[in-house]
Amino acid sequence: MISFEQAQVLIEKNSSCSKKRIIKIQDALGFVLAENIFAPINLPVGDNSAMDGYCLCSRETRNAQAGKPVILKIRGDIKAGDTRNRALKTEETYRIMTGAFIPRGADTVIPKETAMVRGNNCLVIDRFIPAGNHIRYQGEEVRKGGRVLAKGFLMHPATIGILAMLGKDKVAVFDKPKVSLITTGNELVRPGVALRPGQIYDSNSLMIQSALESAGIHPLKACRVKDNAKLLKKAIGMALKESDALILMGGVSVGKYDYVKDVLKETGVKTVFWKVNQKPGKPLYFGKRGETLIFGLPGNPASVFTCFYEYVFPALRRMSGFRHPYLHREVAEIRSEVKPDHQKIVFLKAKTTMAGNKKKVMPLGRQGSHMISSLQKANCFVLIPPSSRPVKKGQRVRIDLLPAGNGTL
Ligand code: AMP
Ligand code: MG
Repeated sequence: MISFEQAQVLIEKNSSCSKKRIIKIQDALGFVLAENIFAPINLPVGDNSAMDGYCLCSRETRNAQAGKPVILKIRGDIKAGDTRNRALKTEETYRIMTGAFIPRGADTVIPKETAMVRGNNCLVIDRFIPAGNHIRYQGEEVRKGGRVLAKGFLMHPATIGILAMLGKDKVAVFDKPKVSLITTGNELVRPGVALRPGQIYDSNSLMIQSALESAGIHPLKACRVKDNAKLLKKAIGMALKESDALILMGGVSVGKYDYVKDVLKETGVKTVFWKVNQKPGKPLYFGKRGETLIFGLPGNPASVFTCFYEYVFPALRRMSGFRHPYLHREVAEIRSEVKPDHQKIVFLKAKTTMAGNKKKVMPLGRQGSHMISSLQKANCFVLIPPSSRPVKKGQRVRIDLLPAGNGTL
């Protein structure tokens, strides 16, 4: 049986970036940039005023002092968006608004709040005003031709804002993988209908569907199939035709009615591994057909959840172009003693918090793989490697942080 680390490496070796796609920037949220972005224009586009005020030529104020002011004639208004190409003459000023371009001949701005105006159209200046006050210069932030964003950046609201500011309406991103979900089990019924004896509600489908949605992946298909080899083969065959990744849940263990592995084999899927030395989720399956990845997650909800975030999620993120696709890894002081398993790595659902400047972590109760309540409270996993010695309270342990939002009460 392979280890957790070996399993992650095998998946890593077998998954690669999706193709590039050009999309509108308003659709790019959550995608990873597949090109370097060079500025097609300067930012700011041109010299413009940072304040509402008056623009003038500094030189004209060189002799201004209290009692001997310089008077400039206010020629009119320059508004943000004015396209007229204006020029300032001697002894003139314009009222200028924030963002309006500075006219030729002007090199400084007096804010409205500190300006002295006499009558309707005279600006009174009683001190020297140096050049460059309250002007935002062309190209001071971004020079035309300079690199603004690098391939591999995640598109988030600010990234989209920068692209828009540069006038770009389209961008090359890595495509998201097309993912299908198949849940197996005779016992499963959808929430909302009455349970008959022997039945339970299917929690995994919607849980994993939402986990995908929160990673910006909208599953192509999600279906529930009985423990019936024929029906399963049909569902798998259909899903494999159009998916980059297929996630099967349940039916990968050693039970008489666990058909998934056999059916995958019949459908031409090559097994990369089956079974990982871990708890929960030991019968985890991973296979490949062509470029399509196939994950078989053991059906217990905690197994599905753990295997999804430790194995499937990183693979899908890698396919989506992320350079660091794994859960963010940290070290924290454990708040309670834990007994490791002698043979397997154990993933404990846990809550990490800051205590002063120390990161602490508390394993939660109800860790059974059939249990679901600790998943809802957890914001991380604690990874306990196999050992015969207990992990003492206060010892430092590895934690893998779940995506933001998990475990927020
Ligand atoms: P399996 O992996 O099919 O052997 O299932 C293991 C356990 O998980 C059984 O107790 C199943 O009833 C349960 N289980 C399987 N699929 C689901 C599901 N979609 N939702 C909730 N529990 C499930
Ligand atoms: Mg089953």
